[in-house]
Amino acid sequence: MIKRYITAIILISLLTLIGYFFFHKIFKKNILYRETRILLGTFVEVISPDKKAIEISFNEIKRIEGLLSKYSPKSDISILNKEGLILASPETFYIIEKAKEFYYLSEGAFDITVGPLVDLWGFTKKEYFLPSQEEINKTLSLIGSDKIILRKKDNMIQFKFQGMKIDLGAIAKGFALDCAIRRLKEEKIKDALINAGGQVYCLGNRFNKPWRVAIKGSLKKEGFLYLRNKAVSTSGNYEQFFKDGEKTYGHIINPKTGYPKISDLFSVTVIADDSITADFLSTAIFLLGEEKGLALAKKFKNTEVKILKR
Ligand code: AMP
Ligand code: MG
Repeated sequence: MIKRYITAIILISLLTLIGYFFFHKIFKKNILYRETRILLGTFVEVISPDKKAIEISFNEIKRIEGLLSKYSPKSDISILNKEGLILASPETFYIIEKAKEFYYLSEGAFDITVGPLVDLWGFTKKEYFLPSQEEINKTLSLIGSDKIILRKKDNMIQFKFQGMKIDLGAIAKGFALDCAIRRLKEEKIKDALINAGGQVYCLGNRFNKPWRVAIKGSLKKEGFLYLRNKAVSTSGNYEQFFKDGEKTYGHIINPKTGYPKISDLFSVTVIADDSITADFLSTAIFLLGEEKGLALAKKFKNTEVKILKR
């Protein structure tokens, strides 16, 4: 009798233990850690089943922001914009080199030297202003990525003319995400999603299924993407703009005319293998228009473009 009693207790204990083990495993498997911080001038959200992913991602994005933000006075870009010359960090040199490549690929439509125009129209301080044609013409003489001199041996970046300024708003977020994802991979983290103001990278899966991402600039049902190991970026003048009477002026500027780009496109979404490519392409396609833009995207493998028209 006692023997049977003990066996029953052992059995119940064992079953409880096994039950607890499976419950814990299933329960734990479905936990997603998430945190949002303000970085790169926007809300950055990191989501992952691995808690470590949060700190690793934010630390890396903060490091890149410290190099590239024109709003932090000690960044490489702020020093370059002030002095016209810098011996930069390898990351800064890399992104400027890449941006020059993008300038030539887009036949000058994508141009990080738009800085003085972004300032002139008031987009930097969000104190919008309608400049005169004379002011625009004067500022246009400072524009052109061909006027950036690069020397690889010591990472030197120099402007040809005083007053030139770089604005990395069109690719900095993409680059920062690529750096963060590289750090996560180094730490053997397999699954995470980082969203920097609509610039998204999906690493691995969300519990064995692709991550679901809403397309920015669309509230329609079909505006969802299911992605793994892919970057998404959306650009459009709907993001930052001001109105003067009937006219709307957006933050993506045509570097040839000096005016905000007027386009029949509402938004351009690009899916690519890496974030800097997606970020560059979405801005560049918005500037180039559908036909030339899609031809440019074809030069990059594994890219998909979704255009919403007005
Ligand atoms: P995105 O949201 O990635 O399309 O980038 C838009 C931002 O890129 C703007 O807010 C400016 O900081 C910057 N920008 C504006 N016009 C241009 C241009 N023609 N080429 C490169 N960057 C630009
Ligand atoms: Mg962009």
